[in-house]
Amino acid sequence: MTQSSVFPLSSVQLTGRSESHLVRMTCGHSMQAEAAEAFTQLQSDAREAGFDLAIVSAFRSFERQLAIWNGKASGQRLIHDDSGNALNANELSVDELVHAILRFSALPGTSRHHWGSDIDVYDQAAVSDDYAVQLVPAEVSSGGVFDPMHSWLDERIAADKSHGFFRPYASDSGGVAVERWHLSYAPLSLGCAAQLTAALVRECWNGCEEKLLLREELDAQLPTIIKRYLAVEENWCPARYYPAE
Ligand SMILES: [Zn+2]
Repeated sequence: MTQSSVFPLSSVQLTGRSESHLVRMTCGHSMQAEAAEAFTQLQSDAREAGFDLAIVSAFRSFERQLAIWNGKASGQRLIHDDSGNALNANELSVDELVHAILRFSALPGTSRHHWGSDIDVYDQAAVSDDYAVQLVPAEVSSGGVFDPMHSWLDERIAADKSHGFFRPYASDSGGVAVERWHLSYAPLSLGCAAQLTAALVRECWNGCEEKLLLREELDAQLPTIIKRYLAVEENWCPARYYPAE
């Protein structure tokens, strides 16, 4: 990998409308070069411990996130409650619908997966080749097929030996649900998070040709949504990763 990391990201990079900040990895996924390098190191530590740390999802584009959002907003894609029960979009108020989607899916333009710093992972050694990873709590919680690898990761993370990767969705404070499979490369993602503002998100939506469903409701609630669903807990990574003031 020869390309160095890009900072700050341009607004099109930050919102998933460009891939010019990314390198393609041998597994076929794309990340920023520095994060990809760090992931390779984490992967090699995992291998020594008997795990095959693999990526389900790394960079995701704005278009892809828009398709997920619109699919859920229109009822074409399933929405679940916290217990995994399917919700009927037609039976929810607009406000309920917005929050039911946001619990598990990011607003297009605001996904941490746009940044090239965040990944969803699993242990390829724990399942057969034809296993379809679902990224549901049952897979990663105690007794789940990927729990041993995540417990190993927890120890590395607690000791700050995880090559800069931490869990932004480790606890539930009423925003995004707990996602044990989601790792974020703090040295880059802290800066990306700081760049994201309501104005930048609106500019992104205005520049998009395809209609964003529920736009009116989202516009009205955007500052609150950003606070509740985009902000992660202060202590999600050690203080030493935060840029010096
Ligand atoms: Zn994720």
